[in-house]
Order: sequence, then C-alpha cells, then structure tokens
Amino acid sequence: MSTLFISDLHLTPERPASTEYFVEFMRLKASSANTIYVLGDLFEYWIGDDASSILGADPVISEFKRLADAGTQLFFMPGNRDFLVGDALCDQAGFQYLADQTLVTLNTEPALLLHGDSLCTDDIEHQQFRAMVNNANWQTQFLELPIETRIEYAHQARTMSNSNDKNYSDEIMDVTESGVADAFQDHAVKLMIHGHTHRPNIHKHRISGTDTIRIVLGDWYEQASYLELDDGTLKLHIGEQVKTIELLD
Ligand code: MN
Repeated sequence: MSTLFISDLHLTPERPASTEYFVEFMRLKASSANTIYVLGDLFEYWIGDDASSILGADPVISEFKRLADAGTQLFFMPGNRDFLVGDALCDQAGFQYLADQTLVTLNTEPALLLHGDSLCTDDIEHQQFRAMVNNANWQTQFLELPIETRIEYAHQARTMSNSNDKNYSDEIMDVTESGVADAFQDHAVKLMIHGHTHRPNIHKHRISGTDTIRIVLGDWYEQASYLELDDGTLKLHIGEQVKTIELLD
C-alpha cells in the first residue's frame, strides 16, 4: 500500500540507460504501489501526442498502461519539457492529468505537488518561456505545425537549456527562498514535493513561524530516484542512498 513519486526521467531514445532503469523500476518496484505520481519531465521533450511513436515513447506508455489496468492509480503532472502531453497520451497510458501546483492529501496531510520550475523565480528567461508555452493559443498554434518543424523547435530549445552537455544539473537554476515561501503560504501547506532542479534532498524550512518540509525528487540520468510514502514514512531514494522523514502529524 505505498505511494510513489517520480519526476525528471527525461526519457529519450538518445539515453537508453534511463529507459532501462525505468522499465526495471516499473516491473520490480512500481507494480506493488497503489498510487504513482509523475511530477513532470517524464520525457526529455514532448511535441504532441501524435508524435509519441517518433519520440520512442511506446514501450513506456505500455508499461504504465499495464499498471493502470492492474488497478494502480497513475497521476501525470506536466513539467517544463512535456507540457504538451494531452488527452490522447493520458488515455493510452492510463494517466489521470494533474495541473502543475495541485493540492493532494497524503494520509491526512495536505501536500502541494508541483514540477518545481515555478519556484525558480530568479531564472527570468525560463519564466518568460514558461509563460509563453503555457498559453493555450501558443499551444494550439504549435500543435498545428508539421511534426518535423516541431522537432526542430524542440531541439533548439534543448540546445539553449543544455549548453553544457556533461552537466545538465548545473545549468538549472535552483529554487529561490521567496519562491518557496510564497508557494507554502499561497497554498497554506506544510509539505511540498517537487522535482525539476535535479538536486534531490529533504529540506526543512521555517515559514512565518511554521515548520515545513520540502522534498525534492532526483533525476534519472545515472540512477533511479523516487520518493515512497508507506505507513506515514517518506523515503527519498537517490540511487542506493535513502533519506527518511516522518509525514507531519
Ligand atoms: Mn524540469
């Protein structure tokens, strides 16, 4: 009876090892969970559900569908790479779609789930990109372009954000203190779970006199990384390493 949280798999046919970790994880670990939350950047980029085969996503989609058919609840939240995931993919994979920044209840504790890029408020360039691509008109126009044109655009966007291929994580700005404080206060929660920064950790913050916990999920470039909630205990797995914290009571 466990709940799993994953993000930042950045799956792409160009990095087959990550897909292998993930398929193994789905078969060995995920099949015993009753709920799985994907908190964004499942895919390195997503240019529309009509291109899923070209993006090499079919094996992953069928792994998810197998779990969904067996009764696992699957929730998908978009990240800054796969914000164009739509209804067709959700149907195929058995995903229930969650908007970025959604409140859920874990056991009895309200928790804010988000991809995390909205917290990186110092990254002005990214916030401008985010505002543009989250616009419904922009999305409609983009999805009407030929697939080849969309792929070209995605490659350009990746080149801009991955200027140093060896170390992606250093290229992603971290969250800001004010971004985190605002999110805790706006949503009136004491627990937040997000990914995006590729800096997996469990942080404790004191926000206006209230103790809060922020859990950051890791990426899957070199190892599997996930958060597991089981019987009120949260375990953050980063490869072989495990960090544990009790759910607030
Ligand atoms: Mn991201």
